[in-house]
Amino acid sequence: MKLSSRSKSYMIPEYSLTGDLLSYLTCGLQYRYQNKGTLPPSMPIQLWFGEFIHGVMEEAYLKWENDHTEFPWDWKRDIRPIEDIIDLRLQVRGLYPREDHFFTINHPDLNMTIDDLNEYDHKKLASARAEKAINVWGSDLFPMMESAEVLIKGLREMPYTGTDKRSNYYGINGVIDVLSLVNIKDDNKIVRYLNENEEFRKIVEEYGEDEYEVIIDYKGMKRPPMEVEASGNETWDYHERQILTYSWLRQKQESKKPVAGIIFYLNELVPSKEDLMMIKDDLHYHLTDAGDDEEFAKDIEVIENWDEGSEMPKLSEKFKMDRSIRIIPINDEKIADALEKFDVVVENIESSLIKEINGCKIQDAWKAEAEERTCEACDFKTFCKNSKNKTKIFKIP
Ligand code: SF4
Repeated sequence: MKLSSRSKSYMIPEYSLTGDLLSYLTCGLQYRYQNKGTLPPSMPIQLWFGEFIHGVMEEAYLKWENDHTEFPWDWKRDIRPIEDIIDLRLQVRGLYPREDHFFTINHPDLNMTIDDLNEYDHKKLASARAEKAINVWGSDLFPMMESAEVLIKGLREMPYTGTDKRSNYYGINGVIDVLSLVNIKDDNKIVRYLNENEEFRKIVEEYGEDEYEVIIDYKGMKRPPMEVEASGNETWDYHERQILTYSWLRQKQESKKPVAGIIFYLNELVPSKEDLMMIKDDLHYHLTDAGDDEEFAKDIEVIENWDEGSEMPKLSEKFKMDRSIRIIPINDEKIADALEKFDVVVENIESSLIKEINGCKIQDAWKAEAEERTCEACDFKTFCKNSKNKTKIFKIP
């Protein structure tokens, strides 16, 4: 009697929207070393702030839900304890802040006062941003929130069609920072921003209801330039695709139909010198959609006249708020386009992986292409053939 053999186990490759797809788009080779290898980045400062601000906003929401603390929150009494909890959580994961950006619990600054949060000298950038994020947006955001950190997953057909493909499908997943239920008639400054967006208004007019689901995402970065071609920076498009894909996953999983996404670029509330230098360029070359009009003539003038050696300029609250919120109206056509583009990313990753499995050298299998700033902070720049920022190693004769 012939014994039947066990069928080969079936594996569906799983891709995270931010951890894999957006990370691959930053640089294929860096993604390979960091995500597919076991090498964590050696100086994860950017990673620390992103994780910190997400943690602070989530914890602040839980606190508000619990005790409805009136806004504005006092930094030392209401916000600092939250920062400490998040700092400790991140330390457990090996993530530490830059000392001059944050009063970390390991190096307590006993003389710290609320004045240390002076946003113009940037001594404690992370705390200053946390305070602004909660007090500028929290009062209007928290009452709209339905749930936070929502995991969503879906399956798509595998776009890689080679005979050696690993599976007929791939899994895609993501974590939505906040899902909110918005009533477009509410008196709320976030709702006002939504209603000022013409494309959003058209979409809700078509549906004809008052309440809609909106996806919210926090980014610990400045607002990227909108003119992708002129700036050579595609982050603006990638963020839109991320929201559109979340929306598709949401429809698949819960049959909900979010009508818009909101991204909060939280660095805009307290920009660093590096951020402000980039904002200056975006305004000068008209690459940005926010803050570049008559209404902000004074802010633009102050920024134009500012040089990096001098004190940070004082910018109007409206300028900072306008630049820190981005509305992304959602429709089916845009979703289909975003999914198609992410399919191409998955196809490229799969094709590189399979090349490597078949014996191709890592640097030949993965595309190494990144912006100069990415190469500058990359741990692999010393041996990457395509680094735009190679540190020269001189041989001693
Ligand atoms: S040095 Fe630049 S091109 Fe090379 S892996 Fe790093 S980010 Fe990519």
